[in-house]
Amino acid sequence: MRIILIGPPGAGKGTQCQRLVELLDVPHLSTGEMLRAAIQQGTAEGQEAATYMNRGQLVPDQLVLSLVTRRLKGPDCRKGCLLDGFPRTLPQAEMLDDLLERQAMSVDGVIELTVPRDELVRRMLARQREDDNPEIFSRRIESFERQTAPLLEYYERRGKLISIDGLGTADDIFQRVHRAIRAFRRSRR
Ligand code: AMP
Repeated sequence: MRIILIGPPGAGKGTQCQRLVELLDVPHLSTGEMLRAAIQQGTAEGQEAATYMNRGQLVPDQLVLSLVTRRLKGPDCRKGCLLDGFPRTLPQAEMLDDLLERQAMSVDGVIELTVPRDELVRRMLARQREDDNPEIFSRRIESFERQTAPLLEYYERRGKLISIDGLGTADDIFQRVHRAIRAFRRSRR
């Protein structure tokens, strides 16, 4: 299966992704991780990406797409994948659909984790990752609302979106995620 997990920064995507890759038995493709790896390796792509990431802005579509395209062509992705943090803009979603269509594949379902903004801020203060200073974190939430939220409508119109409540324990949320996966499986048949 090819599943996309969408949610604002701090929504708990990471935790749910860990469990989902086990359930689905597919590779986990996180563009945030790919970009951080490129920065660590000091590649030209990494250097360019860092200038945006340090400001809490999205990296240009073309840069992210070239990373994802390379990764999606890997033989391990034939059976499916879990996309985490990608697509994040409408052009990325359209380009993903084109890319998959050319390989006679498609996205099976999109899960949105919804969490109110004040809860996101509370979690961020408790977690303190390097790119989590309050000002940058707010910018990341804003870029989610401005650039990523329109994707929800894109997938909704295609009947592929299930939005779930991201509040509760990791177990509670995973039960909801699992239910969404079962619904996607049924609609595939
Ligand atoms: P994440 O680990 O998914 O929260 O991503 C960390 C940062 O990497 C984001 O704040 C963006 O600057 C950048 N990033 C990750 N994925 C994308 C994407 N699909 N498009 C643009 N920028 C991205």
